[in-house]
Amino acid sequence: MMTIQGMKYKSDFEAKKAILDIGRRMYAKGFVASNDGNISCRVGPNTIWTTPTGVSKGFMTQDMLVKMDLDGKVLMGRLKPSSEIKMHLRVYQENPRLQAVTHAHPPMATCFAIAGQPLDAAILTEAILSLGTIPVARYATPGTQEVPDSIAPFVNHYNGVLLANHGALTWGDDIYQAFYRLESVEYYATILMYTGNIIGQQNHLSCEQVDRLLEIRKNMGITGGGVPPCMNGGQLTKVCESCAAAGEKPAAAGAELAGVSCGNCAAAGGKTAVTGAELAGVPCGSYAAVGGKPAVTGAERTASPCGSCAAAGETQTGPQATLKGVTPLVRPGDSGKMSGGGLGAGAGLANAAAGPGSPSTGPGPEDKEALIAEIVRRVVGQLKA
Ligand SMILES: [Zn+2]
Repeated sequence: MMTIQGMKYKSDFEAKKAILDIGRRMYAKGFVASNDGNISCRVGPNTIWTTPTGVSKGFMTQDMLVKMDLDGKVLMGRLKPSSEIKMHLRVYQENPRLQAVTHAHPPMATCFAIAGQPLDAAILTEAILSLGTIPVARYATPGTQEVPDSIAPFVNHYNGVLLANHGALTWGDDIYQAFYRLESVEYYATILMYTGNIIGQQNHLSCEQVDRLLEIRKNMGITGGGVPPCMNGGQLTKVCESCAAAGEKPAAAGAELAGVSCGNCAAAGGKTAVTGAELAGVPCGSYAAVGGKPAVTGAERTASPCGSCAAAGETQTGPQATLKGVTPLVRPGDSGKMSGGGLGAGAGLANAAAGPGSPSTGPGPEDKEALIAEIVRRVVGQLKA
């Protein structure tokens, strides 16, 4: 370790050794396929070591690694860094305290990233304590400036982010902390997938229970992580934490989008009294702009922003936008409606949010079986591919 201007950094040797070690673990755990993923570690206020492009992260040697400055200039190394390094550089620029960034495509987390669903249900104590909630950054074309811009709003408030239709990105005060957060993201996503879509039952923690966990988290020195929606008086409610930080008042409980000011929601008439009605990184205006009113509270999804369809010159046949080249997951009995079950962390959440007797579009028992069968069929297909 070296101390520069009061900050401790890993030496070149320590950083390279840790990157190779984490690359092997990432590959062994199935977080990356082929040459996917990238890792970086800070070794000074303005310098990092990172992984090269076109190489499996499970089989790297020290001579393959690249040393760069935070402006993207290569200082050492014979190989080229990944085009995805731009998002790493942005993380370091946004928060000088952070020491490492890891990026991979873990299957379960990537499923949520594709569905545009944040990992934010208060169902797992460990996830609240050490990881926090994981929002979804808006879709960005790989290799472009859109990617770093899409993640920038989350760096100082969370410990990681899902990249829409892509994968997961985590950061930390240490390279192993960044990697452990990547592991935790995948674990949390797996639990959310099973409880929300296989068992179909999620018992959410009360706001009092969540508050106690947040107090412990604070005492552990973890400042990022957001606050998950919690049960208050029989209803899921969302604390508007970053609005308060910005000195703004939400129009209603939870009328806020992660990374988007409260004012935007209010301006777009985006009242979100219950959880699931909000999506990280997606302004409420996307739907309103094309007249796409969600059929039920929270029926908006990042995966099908009306705005993208319009921009791509595609037609929107019903309230649910279709994307070219993407087969929408058709929920049985869901025709002509928004994907009512696709909220927050699963169908269970949506139904809980809508309440009994409300015009919820959540699937019935038979529909649910068909839906689960469809999900299982697709996951198996993905794994085989
Ligand atoms: Zn990637």
